[in-house]
Amino acid sequence: MKQTFINQERLEAITNDFPTPFHLYDEKGIRATARALNAAFSWNKGFKEYFAVKATPTPAILKILHEEGCGVDCASYVELLLSKKCGFSGDEMMFSSNDTPAYEYAYANELGATINLDAYEHIDFLTQQENFEFPKTMSLRYNPGGVFAMGTQIMDNPEESKFGMTKTQLIQGIKHLQSLGVENFGLHSFLASNTVTNDYYPELAHQLFELTLEIRTLTGVTLDFINLSGGIGVNYRPDQKANDIATIGAGVHKVYDEVLVKNGISDLKIYTELGRFMLAPHGHLVTRVLHLKETYRKYVGVDASAVNLMRPAFYDAYHHITVMGKENQAPTEVYDVTGSLCENNDKFAKQRALPQIEVGDLLVIHDTGAHGYSMGYQYNAKLRSAEILLQEDGSSRLIRRAERPEDYFQTLDGFDFKL
Ligand SMILES: *Cc1c(COP(=O)(O)O)cnc(C)c1O
Repeated sequence: MKQTFINQERLEAITNDFPTPFHLYDEKGIRATARALNAAFSWNKGFKEYFAVKATPTPAILKILHEEGCGVDCASYVELLLSKKCGFSGDEMMFSSNDTPAYEYAYANELGATINLDAYEHIDFLTQQENFEFPKTMSLRYNPGGVFAMGTQIMDNPEESKFGMTKTQLIQGIKHLQSLGVENFGLHSFLASNTVTNDYYPELAHQLFELTLEIRTLTGVTLDFINLSGGIGVNYRPDQKANDIATIGAGVHKVYDEVLVKNGISDLKIYTELGRFMLAPHGHLVTRVLHLKETYRKYVGVDASAVNLMRPAFYDAYHHITVMGKENQAPTEVYDVTGSLCENNDKFAKQRALPQIEVGDLLVIHDTGAHGYSMGYQYNAKLRSAEILLQEDGSSRLIRRAERPEDYFQTLDGFDFKL
């Protein structure tokens, strides 16, 4: 059973101050997850989580993670800007971008962020930029190609992925970068997304640790760090079991000892760039039922839509739904839960068994703390919602106001919406 992190009474009280829809975040849960991750990897001296900013680019959230010792992983100029404004310094920033414009590399370098090169060809691209001075430390993104399979449930196709470089390019890249003055190297790889298994990181680490030895043999370079990136998933579905980060950390530790320590490498740092795992379960999209409709199916129309949470429309992703106050009622009805966009894929749930719903019921859509608000958009001139933080003391705080019509119009030249 998936549970909400707030009860009906307290949630109704918040809606008295802030109208639905909004995203609500649980500070206590966010801190607990960050602490559990840091504890799971405390055996590794240089361990650091660089939170994937794209998952939840909200200053109040980034500040909490910063307080818990996390850095940030940025993918664009504005994410770098945002992170800097939030108080992150260069060595707390990873810059994992692809198809990157020159000015973004330049800014990342200026801030002292660790640049994670996506492509071998980008080395030449950078040498052609005036004033780009290669930093002392750089990371390279690896793509092994082929198929990444683990048992039957995890399958991804690195060969079809636009990210990263081949092993040959990686070896060549290290040598090339050495000639340009780079001294310390790291390796980054992201082979499967949203994995719900404790075996993904250990399996990935195994491959990258073996590669670390191969790189040492072929180039003489002992890597400084391995960035395991994102990919640790969450149990969106109620029948899935949550990942156990302590088990995952211990699994990586075991292969670290078996592959690296046994071969004389004991100070290689482990980095992660988790987004979903850190934040998804600690966010709820809170929405109220506006309409019921019955045609060939039963529909529940809510005041949120895909602009607030794109994942169901985009990926057909499952997000669990709780009808507040009806947690213990039997799911006697089958509904499609929809938003108001003029798009038939604007459905938070299709043919979902739920308790009998009435107009005015408050719904919580679960696991929206990552890739939720941040994937939002303004189709149908729907405005972005507010974000609210449920603080550790139980009080709530507005951390981003909802957009107003003037926000929508403000980029239009010569258009005064007040006229
Ligand atoms: C998206 C992304 C992440 C985070 O992925 P999650 O699945 O949210 O953990 C980390 N690193 C890079 C480079 C990414 O693009």
